[in-house]
Amino acid sequence: MRHRRTWYGQGWGWSKDDWKKFNKAQKKAAKRLRKAVKRLRRAAKDLSNGGKISRRTRRTLAQFAGAVGGSPSAADLKATANMLAASATALADDGTLGYVANSYGAEQWAIGMARSATAPAAANTATRTMLVNTSHPLFGPQPIRTDQTNEQVLTWMVGHESLHNKPNSLEDQYFMGSRVYQYVDPARVWQLGATNPQLAIQNPDNILQFVFPW
Ligand SMILES: [Zn+2]
Repeated sequence: MRHRRTWYGQGWGWSKDDWKKFNKAQKKAAKRLRKAVKRLRRAAKDLSNGGKISRRTRRTLAQFAGAVGGSPSAADLKATANMLAASATALADDGTLGYVANSYGAEQWAIGMARSATAPAAANTATRTMLVNTSHPLFGPQPIRTDQTNEQVLTWMVGHESLHNKPNSLEDQYFMGSRVYQYVDPARVWQLGATNPQLAIQNPDNILQFVFPW
């Protein structure tokens, strides 16, 4: 067991540089998740109290509804907060709780990940393991997007994958036959919320629209 503080424990295959990037993203993601947890719990409390809703809570409600659609109840806010708290715990784990991230090179990724050949990462809903495609340009020196840094994308990605792992075990949801991903088609994320909030509140990238400001 590692005693060094590494967050999702450092599994096999990592270069020093890639691990540094990944680990930094984990810390950033955990921090944002915890902030979201606080906001959701505070808003849930306000709603349950049945009194006057503060401006802060109104803003939280509007932003959360914007991300997942519908009119989320206090119970919805609490349930989502609990999921995000569990993900933050996973990200902050050094491997003691079983959360481990492994790095795959291009060849290994192509063999093992045919279904997600172009994805930067994957995580099984039955485990606490994150598989990271460090041959993805996301780990390279060139920004893969014009509107965001690679660090921002990586931070979103680790948040996304942590929601797949236990105990949350969320699956990516489908809209019109395609999985709903922010980085594949952000319009779909919005459409899922607009048409099926019950699914959207279980979809990692809908929830993450509330968590990350980019
Ligand atoms: Zn996913």
